[in-house]
Amino acid sequence: MAKRTINSELFAEARKYLAGGVNSPVRAFNYAGCDPMIIKKGLGSKVYDYDGKVYIDYVLSWGSLILGHAHPGVIRGIKKVIKSGLSFGATNRLEIELAKIILKAIPSIAKIRFVNSGTEAVMGAVRLARGYTKRDKILKFECSYHGHADYLLVKSGSGLATFGLPASAGVPRNYIKDTLMAGYGDKKAVENIFKKHRNEIAAVIFEPCGGNYGVISPDIDFLKYLRAVTAKNRALLIADEVITGFRFDFGSLSRKLGITPDIISLGKIIGGGLPIGAYGARQEIMNHLAPLGEVYQASTFAGNPVVMQSGLSTLRELEKLKDKYSSLGELTEYLSESVRESARASNIELDVENFGSMFSLRFKEKKQFQRFYGRLLESGVYFAQSEFETNFLSFSHTRADIEKTIRGVKRALDAA
Ligand SMILES: *Cc1c(COP(=O)(O)O)cnc(C)c1O
Repeated sequence: MAKRTINSELFAEARKYLAGGVNSPVRAFNYAGCDPMIIKKGLGSKVYDYDGKVYIDYVLSWGSLILGHAHPGVIRGIKKVIKSGLSFGATNRLEIELAKIILKAIPSIAKIRFVNSGTEAVMGAVRLARGYTKRDKILKFECSYHGHADYLLVKSGSGLATFGLPASAGVPRNYIKDTLMAGYGDKKAVENIFKKHRNEIAAVIFEPCGGNYGVISPDIDFLKYLRAVTAKNRALLIADEVITGFRFDFGSLSRKLGITPDIISLGKIIGGGLPIGAYGARQEIMNHLAPLGEVYQASTFAGNPVVMQSGLSTLRELEKLKDKYSSLGELTEYLSESVRESARASNIELDVENFGSMFSLRFKEKKQFQRFYGRLLESGVYFAQSEFETNFLSFSHTRADIEKTIRGVKRALDAA
């Protein structure tokens, strides 16, 4: 039975004051069937709890921290700017600098707009697509997550899947009547939807690599089809790169895959651990955004100087590592292959999916995952607390971290 620890006492206290003890559902570890650790600090590839336990972190703020926790270059940058004020609600120079570095790395977008989260980025991108095309309907794929805007919270991957929910309560039927859905990879379904809703579809939105229903590796043929079918029907293609932007190389994943979307949403990595979102498109589309055009979107904190600096320092450090992305992918492949081998050796049916520096696990039964997960935490390895979430590597993960993780996984699989 659960021991009384500082951690469990803190979580009991959290439950008194925060709904479910958390500020985002999956953090409650319901799916994993144990109490979450309360994190005291993070350094490099590790997080520390209040009982003095250390974990190798594969959650990394859901992939945001590609340099690891508290990277010295990022902390130095933030320390320098906080002395000059925390928020202006007016244009500052750091916005220009961060925009420049992103636009140079993603040449298909000519202008960018910064917001405060990936959710807002996608909301802005969808509104812009609707305003530009003067059409209402959007097409998304089952199991993709695009943030928590009402009209996108249908069959939206990990968060809902973890709790076994098809859609969120509190979303009026009317709000989702313009959200069309198809299975990822299902060309026929997409074709039929375009036939049925000729001249009604503003945009198709997709994740270049699925990261919100475990890892769903890109189906390049399907993505090329989406590019063609949207162009043919004068609908826009929105690549939601909130996870994938700067995760697979120094730029967008769409570009690496040879797909040119019309609008790209970004988040996570570009904020270096502080809350951010952004969306961008070619000039002609961005001209529709207020104050240039009639599509309105505003924000008190957008372009916040501290956030901009955090993103800027992160991208500058990341640019120095741009030749190292492939080794990060190789390390992830090595870890994933070792996990597969251990599962075979323990006679456990386990699907491991990996792409670049992302990987996910899927057991036959939830109970197996729970036994595995509890044991893994004991070994000091922190994987995502649901099989529907994705794990990430960062440039701070060492070979020694990976070897320790492999040993922990072996022991945990024996317990599953
Ligand atoms: C995380 C995520 C979002 C939402 O970003 P938040 O910053 O959590 O609002 C949107 N789309 C994708 C693909 C994401 O992974």
